[in-house]
Amino acid sequence: MFRTAESTAWADPRQDACIEPKEIAVDSNRRVFLFQVIAGGAVAASNGAHAQQKVDPKDPQAAALGYVENTTQADKKKFPKHANDQKCNGCQLYSGAASAKEGPCAVFGGKLVAAEGWCNSWVKKA
Ligand code: SF4
Repeated sequence: MFRTAESTAWADPRQDACIEPKEIAVDSNRRVFLFQVIAGGAVAASNGAHAQQKVDPKDPQAAALGYVENTTQADKKKFPKHANDQKCNGCQLYSGAASAKEGPCAVFGGKLVAAEGWCNSWVKKA
């Protein structure tokens, strides 16, 4: 590229076209804008992917362990050792905050269980 004698525009001998410096700046800003949009979308998608899933009581593993979102709904015939004071937030395998309504459970690979929930793997928090 070279400057023509008549103007301050840049000439591209390969395309026989002129590119004004202002156009270059706009094009550069457009590229930056598009990059920011794409990067922002990637971050949003990434956050979505990391959002924790809740354990579905109907999931085969959860159903086998008798998981319920409220400990009072546990099947007492099938799980006679269950007691209503056994709740996920009092279980060794629960890692949610004390005041949280739900938190990750190690048995379910870190998926969220209800703080008031229960399953047959309940172990009293030490
Ligand atoms: S292992 Fe503990 S925290 Fe996890 S679902 Fe069963 S009772 Fe709740």
